[in-house]
Amino acid sequence: MNWVTTLFLLSTPLVAVVWGVAHIRSVGVSPVEIAAFALYVCATGFSITIGYHRLFAHRSYECSRIVKILYLLFGAAAFQHSVISWCSDHRRHHKHIDEDDDPYNIQRGFLWAHIGWLLVMEHKEKEDHSNVHDLMADPWIRFQHRFYVPLAVLMGFGVPFVFGWAVGNPWGCVLWAGIFRVVLVHHSTFLVNSLAHTLGRRPYTLAVSARDSAVTALLTFGEGYHNFHHRFAADYRNGVARAAWDPSKWLIGTLERLGLAWNLRRVPRERIVAAQLACDSERLIARVAGRSENTRNFLRERLIEVSARVERAASRLGTVEREFASARVQWGRSRRARVKQLRAELRSSRLEMRAARLRWRTVLAGLLSGSTALPA
Ligand SMILES: [Zn+2]
Ligand SMILES: [Zn+2]
Repeated sequence: MNWVTTLFLLSTPLVAVVWGVAHIRSVGVSPVEIAAFALYVCATGFSITIGYHRLFAHRSYECSRIVKILYLLFGAAAFQHSVISWCSDHRRHHKHIDEDDDPYNIQRGFLWAHIGWLLVMEHKEKEDHSNVHDLMADPWIRFQHRFYVPLAVLMGFGVPFVFGWAVGNPWGCVLWAGIFRVVLVHHSTFLVNSLAHTLGRRPYTLAVSARDSAVTALLTFGEGYHNFHHRFAADYRNGVARAAWDPSKWLIGTLERLGLAWNLRRVPRERIVAAQLACDSERLIARVAGRSENTRNFLRERLIEVSARVERAASRLGTVEREFASARVQWGRSRRARVKQLRAELRSSRLEMRAARLRWRTVLAGLLSGSTALPA
């Protein structure tokens, strides 16, 4: 057993319930406590998703030193170990997903992936930092690793206490921004390892257990589009659709507009669409696995025919998207006219893409339901 972690992970929810009930019964809830709680949930939650995860573990963008230091400080306050240790586990998870060397392997059960793996020494014994040399080269990251425990206590409980003391409510702020917040952010992150490998669809790859779900995304600061993430881990987005609930991607986009983040990595639209088409086709072919060679060949040809239209639309949309992104950050007199023209092109290529996708889905539905006759 890893007793230190176990005691921390079991005592924090217990203290939250016992102290929380007693505190709220005796003095109620103050707006300052709610504000400190909300601020700390966001600061520590996003430091894990856009800091520990998308920046440090996957290098999906670059950012200024001050932003990086904030991630290191508030990430420590989340009590999820240092960047070095977190990212080493996480890179192993991606490399060996669903296998024995995956530290939070979902094949060992929901509870194991959620919290069980943290309660035993197994992953600590296997811990090997050879996959995080790039991170160890950074003196700020090494500093956080070396002084992780005092930093975590200071940032996680010390700062809320000092803030609360300044506004005349130190223990209320420790309870809300310290205890309640730690429990909430812990289980939100843990859900990415458990629920995101259990609930939802697999539109980009059938080879891994990771799934896309808006429900998980709502509970995890946007990390619930996990099938996309495991297929395209270098992309700074998890919810790749424009309207997908991914506040982490919106925050990285905001940092880019403020000049605090740059080199955001986006997988080209064409590759994303190709992955979706391959996944749909694979699913369909699997459904007719028992049918004759003739039937399967007919299906393959039909799929190639319809997917060609989707690929053409994706290629046009991808090109316009890239031109639009670069025109927006350029300066000069012709910029405004160019952006306007590209915006119109973007609209028409999105419509074309939607029509091609609709046709693809209709053909698939016909083949799946049996309303399209298949040769014997
Ligand atoms: Zn995963
Ligand atoms: Zn990841």
